[in-house]
Amino acid sequence: MEKNNNFISTTLSSIGKTPTVPLTRIMPPASGSRLYAKIEGLNPGGSVKDRPALYMIKRALENGTLLPGMTIIDSSSGNTGISYAMIGAYLGMRVKIYAPSNMSEERKIIMRLYGAELILTPAEESHDGAIKRANDEYQKGAGKVYFMPDQYNNSDNPLSHYETTAVELIEQTGGNIDFFATGIGTGGTILGVGKRLKEFNGKIKIIAVVPDNEMHGIEGWKYNYSLNFKGFDKDKIIDDFVKVDTEGSYEAVKRLIREEGLLCGFSSGANAYAVQKLSERYRGNFSTVLPDTGSRYLSTRVFSEFALL
Ligand code: PMP
Repeated sequence: MEKNNNFISTTLSSIGKTPTVPLTRIMPPASGSRLYAKIEGLNPGGSVKDRPALYMIKRALENGTLLPGMTIIDSSSGNTGISYAMIGAYLGMRVKIYAPSNMSEERKIIMRLYGAELILTPAEESHDGAIKRANDEYQKGAGKVYFMPDQYNNSDNPLSHYETTAVELIEQTGGNIDFFATGIGTGGTILGVGKRLKEFNGKIKIIAVVPDNEMHGIEGWKYNYSLNFKGFDKDKIIDDFVKVDTEGSYEAVKRLIREEGLLCGFSSGANAYAVQKLSERYRGNFSTVLPDTGSRYLSTRVFSEFALL
């Protein structure tokens, strides 16, 4: 999945190779530590999920589990659904997404703009309802009409980060990494990046950022996560954990926007906040990802109130 060597990219080959920047306002050099952050919102679909979505779909096309005329089906109220929709648009493939009806209006519009079929499931059933309904529909045409990427169990998800995100981070930082910290949704990012960084330098510490309560409101994160990817052993990859509260994460995303000039989402703020906390415990070169663009959160109370300040 190399980029073209010529100057012209395609929509899909422009996935990845995102910039990595030092966050010098969040982590001033005088602190004795540095923080390098990968701006994943600059992917064509606006988030880090373009990488695993591309890997899962490409692999399925290569091994014949996804054939022309079939529909990509899954549940997602967030970035993964948008990435499937964007890739489906480019490939001319149908995409069917199940998501709770209370998902944000921006996300509904974005998926539909790309031409995906969005099926809204009862809000009170939450994500589990959307997952169940997507699975029920999938069973009606599994392997024939439908292909389901299954991002929570598909090792092509962490593999995309192992082969791209981590390699870029090493190149862009000149290998100056002591710690990598990020939150967990599917765990694809932490396990894929973590495994590769540890192979590069066994001294690098991989730190999982976790919310301090179940109602954390940080889009993309799971409180009760499970990490079951073949070939990516969480016990060998994750060294430590740091907890973050929602208020601190919101304050950090505001600082990323107003002080670093980076309009990104709440999990980006949470990652930056986590590294600030870690820098009280450790000193060195920290790295993280800013998973998505803040333009996806404009209708949230936090952003609309902040815009008026
Ligand atoms: N932040 C955001 C905004 C996301 O959409 C996701 C993906 N669900 C994550 C963080 C977590 O990434 P991963 O699934 O690789 O653990």
